[in-house]
Amino acid sequence: SKPFVAIVGRPNVGKSTLLNGLAQRRVSIVEDIPGVTRDRIYCNVRWLDKEFTMIDTGGIEFRNKADQIVDGIREQAELAMEEADVILFVVDARAGITKDDMTIANMLRRTGKPVVVAVNKVDSENLEMEVYEFYSLGLGDPIGISAVNHLGFGDLLDKITEGF
Ligand code: GDP
Ligand code: MG
Repeated sequence: SKPFVAIVGRPNVGKSTLLNGLAQRRVSIVEDIPGVTRDRIYCNVRWLDKEFTMIDTGGIEFRNKADQIVDGIREQAELAMEEADVILFVVDARAGITKDDMTIANMLRRTGKPVVVAVNKVDSENLEMEVYEFYSLGLGDPIGISAVNHLGFGDLLDKITEGF
């Protein structure tokens, strides 16, 4: 079967926008657990001669209380750890590195799985310098993208599919 790529990251960094931008075809929406909004969205993505399935675990991260946001992020990362061949960690160039980004980065590093860092919302050239800050996550070369404008997708897909 096709390799799995899981998208993780805190709310509002642009995970869903990115998934929609990369997807050729939405495969399915599964699991709506009562009390927990947990729609897991699977998409097929083709890049050159490669194909993979991308999972957006995004629905689980939104809670009212601050402590539950952290729980949601952890749950998301755990799902990614179990199932993913590659983890796509999305961060926000406009926001810079936040405490939650660091928490997620630490969890992802412990998985031992390949992690690709996508620095989203790099919509213009003057935001390109902001990408370098994200080297300090300790997860390799961050790739600047704009999910809205479909910028940087080629470099991102090259990196994601490197080992496929
Ligand atoms: P998610 O919570 O991580 O799934 O984030 P969403 O995909 O729902 O996006 C959150 C907000 O960020 C929305 O208002 C998007 O329009 C916006 N957004 C997503 N990608 C970009 C981008 O590349 N540039 C800018 N400027 N905004 C973006
Ligand atoms: Mg989302």
